[in-house]
Amino acid sequence: MADLSRRGLLTGSWRSNATVFRPPWSGDETHFLVECIRCSECMTACETRILRRGLSGYPEVDFSKGECTFCYACADSCPQKLFYPRETTPWEHSLSIGDGCMAYASVECRSCQDSCDTQAITFRPSSQGIAVPKLNHSACTACGACITGCPVSALTMRHADAN
Ligand code: SF4
Ligand code: SF4
Ligand code: SF4
Repeated sequence: MADLSRRGLLTGSWRSNATVFRPPWSGDETHFLVECIRCSECMTACETRILRRGLSGYPEVDFSKGECTFCYACADSCPQKLFYPRETTPWEHSLSIGDGCMAYASVECRSCQDSCDTQAITFRPSSQGIAVPKLNHSACTACGACITGCPVSALTMRHADAN
């Protein structure tokens, strides 16, 4: 059973079964949980509606709903001095392309490439006779735009330190 007490939240004991992403620029989990007062202002402010009320009312990013445009509206709306300056790195996440990608089954699909503004996903010829996606991690901002458009949910976001 998950430990939903504040101590449990701060020690992360409830997170073992979940991958939770906080709003961009909100720092590490301990900093976030100490400073966030669960007012929901960031959720209301988010232009792409990707912030939802998560466990115990703390905001979480739901990449299945859309992308982060890094508009900084969540940070601007926060009454706490919680968010880091916009010039800093918003978050450290890592995207991966799983074996379920249709290209590996020789089915043509380039949806992820089409949705990526930074051209972090390109396609290269493969021995299967069809081009397969290749991710350039250094160009990926972890915006999540590619995730929603993937017809087979082959794209997964993780915390960079979880890899
Ligand atoms: S930066 Fe903008 S799009 Fe991203 S979570 Fe915050 S309000 Fe939403
Ligand atoms: S959108 Fe999904 S299935 Fe299509 S190429 Fe990208 S990862 Fe593969
Ligand atoms: S998460 Fe990375 S690969 Fe996907 S659309 Fe955003 S920048 Fe491109």
